[in-house]
Amino acid sequence: MKIEDKHVVTLNYTLTDNEGEVIDQAQDGSFVYLHGAQNIIPGLEKELTDKAVGDKFTVKVAPEDGYGLRDDSRVEEVPREMFPEDQEIEPGMVFHAEGPNGETITVTVLEVSDDSVKIDSNHALAGIELHFDVEVMGIRAAEEVEIEHGHVHGPEGHHH
Ligand code: ZN
Repeated sequence: MKIEDKHVVTLNYTLTDNEGEVIDQAQDGSFVYLHGAQNIIPGLEKELTDKAVGDKFTVKVAPEDGYGLRDDSRVEEVPREMFPEDQEIEPGMVFHAEGPNGETITVTVLEVSDDSVKIDSNHALAGIELHFDVEVMGIRAAEEVEIEHGHVHGPEGHHH
């Protein structure tokens, strides 16, 4: 069986940046996704097509095929009232907010003053070249309901 759309794929991977620092990793088959459903970044999904169990490869993904380029307009000052009054806000804190299309966006606090907060809502990995070291651990046909939902169900997937 080879990886194609509507297949559930289990991976081991290590993600590093240009300096070789580990950003993220999944071992012991703890990462599963539905191929062809944009569950993962395009640059990695493309490389996985047609791979088989046991295949190992490395791929360098440009920001355009990863989490996008950094957008300076996403660094902005917002009124302090946008945050709960009793919430302590400090530089470096990360909040999750809902984006214009209902997606989850991560907001990092850069600076705090009495009445405003400078935030950066770029993805933490925007503008970064990503190096994936991947091993394909498993492939199975997706269930109808998984295809319908656009994600994997079961032990390492969604529970609902
Ligand atoms: Zn579901």
